[in-house]
Amino acid sequence: MEHNSSNFIRSIIKEDLETGKRDNVYTRFPPEPNGYLHIGHAKSIVINFGLADDFKGKTNLRFDDTNPLKEDTEYVEAIKEDVAWLGYEWDGMFFASDYFEEMYNRAILLIKKGKAYVDDLTADEIREYRGTLKEPGKESPHRNRSVDENLDLFDRMRKGEFANGEKVLRAKIDMSSPNINLRDPVIYRVAHASHHNTGDAWCIYPMYAFAHPLEDAIEGITHSLCTTEFEDQRPLYNWIVEECEMENKPQQIEFGRLNITNTVMSKRKLKQLVDEKYVDGWDDPRMPTISGLRRKGYTPESIREFVKETGVSKGSGLVDEAMLEHFVREDLKLKAPRTMGILKPLKVVITNYPEDQVEMLDAEINPENPDMGTRQIPFSREIYIEQEDFMEDPPKKYFRLFPGNEVRLKHAYFIKCEDVIKDDAGNVVEIHCTYDPETKSGTGFTGRKVKGTLHWVDAKHSLPAEFRLYEPLILDKEETEDEADQSEEKTFLDYVNPNSLEISQGFVEPNMENVQAHDKYQFFRHGYFNVDPKHTTKEKVVFNRIVSLKSSFKLK
Ligand code: ATP
Ligand code: MG
Repeated sequence: MEHNSSNFIRSIIKEDLETGKRDNVYTRFPPEPNGYLHIGHAKSIVINFGLADDFKGKTNLRFDDTNPLKEDTEYVEAIKEDVAWLGYEWDGMFFASDYFEEMYNRAILLIKKGKAYVDDLTADEIREYRGTLKEPGKESPHRNRSVDENLDLFDRMRKGEFANGEKVLRAKIDMSSPNINLRDPVIYRVAHASHHNTGDAWCIYPMYAFAHPLEDAIEGITHSLCTTEFEDQRPLYNWIVEECEMENKPQQIEFGRLNITNTVMSKRKLKQLVDEKYVDGWDDPRMPTISGLRRKGYTPESIREFVKETGVSKGSGLVDEAMLEHFVREDLKLKAPRTMGILKPLKVVITNYPEDQVEMLDAEINPENPDMGTRQIPFSREIYIEQEDFMEDPPKKYFRLFPGNEVRLKHAYFIKCEDVIKDDAGNVVEIHCTYDPETKSGTGFTGRKVKGTLHWVDAKHSLPAEFRLYEPLILDKEETEDEADQSEEKTFLDYVNPNSLEISQGFVEPNMENVQAHDKYQFFRHGYFNVDPKHTTKEKVVFNRIVSLKSSFKLK
């Protein structure tokens, strides 16, 4: 696999190896199992696994499970599946909770060194005492408890003698530091909650800011790559590694988050969309989750290529969703078989075609990739075309079917519209046409030209299929999530598109009888589609549209 092209993190690593500051590269991808992975995580995955790979290093998959209330094994399993599907193999798989005992011991070390204390202030009081960017914080009245008293209280916290929120353990750093993260951050809290991994073994849990550097250090991580919102935490990260006397000292490096237009990504918001039933699960094809993109029909290659193209920098850019679509079209162009499907059928009877005749027409499977061979399509007296390919009273420059007009049927013949059959209400129910046997596709007919080519399927031999077309779930969002979160008038739910899914019942070529979940096709004129793994049954295939054929997007 070709990985990240040159970028600032790569340069740092290269220099570390050249100067002998490091003699290996070890990264980790550290999701919290509190939701499914999204396309933003894919960026972190590609960077972490890709960089390590480029330097013959290693990468761990580590579950950052320090918050029992939000985490679940369902998420652990989904994350493993998604990372593997993206094409990455982890060297080690660990849980932050594997290290709870070790973390506890390091906290005791801090207490013994006079670098941590048990505090009785409430969460609100701690916030109040913390001060602001302009004003220094105020010391807690419990800040100068003796080491023995702290050891005793911390031990009793572990034993479950205190209620949630009654006591916390804080690092003793500097209440007047200009960096608010260093104003005696909380490093342990009481939480009487069952943990997905450790059950009821613990009722105190380390805070993320304390746990994360220890996890990295314990695993021998050399470069701890995270997103820029952790930049201000770096001094605390280093303080913890130092004061806890960790032998291995990882280096934290921050890069900019991925943002995509018309897309919300944070797990909190995605969970809300799932819980409030805006979508039918984390893997709904409208979701920017890896599992949603997979179900829609995205390939691992297309996601990896997209992420690489977005680059690695300090800034968090906003990427056009059209760029993601560009990469899946590119990937499927040569791989996906061509076929025809009718999304909204209108019956056409070819009145001069023999009643019982069926002929098999030859068609290339992929004209851009001739090695894929040919397929056979039945043709007979009754076919379906798209409702929108017929107009009784067309505007100028409408080159499809209308009374008196002749068009080509892809891979078949010219047909000419002779008659329009309507029901009592005046709706068009059937079109009567004649065909010209001379015009058969592939015979080199040059007698006359037509301006329109329509797709079609044979009415008697086609298979029923359901088509699901998607529009963005979130509309008109041209800002990054950070920017959007600052806005007070609207929440992201105000941007939810009420018409993001359109379902229609139609037909496909009979040679698609044995399609499997996740088979991908290019339907002539409609775009790329994926066989939906959830809704497809023996009786009816359900196709998700991955992307339409046309794009205005141009890669720079
Ligand atoms: P979210 O806010 O969506 O829950 P998170 O950062 O809390 O995301 P984690 O499970 O902690 O989610 O993420 C694991 C890793 O993925 C982290 O290193 C995080 O920085 C990275 N990551 C998450 N979102 C993005 C993104 N949009 N772009 C790049 N990296 C991301
Ligand atoms: Mg998070």
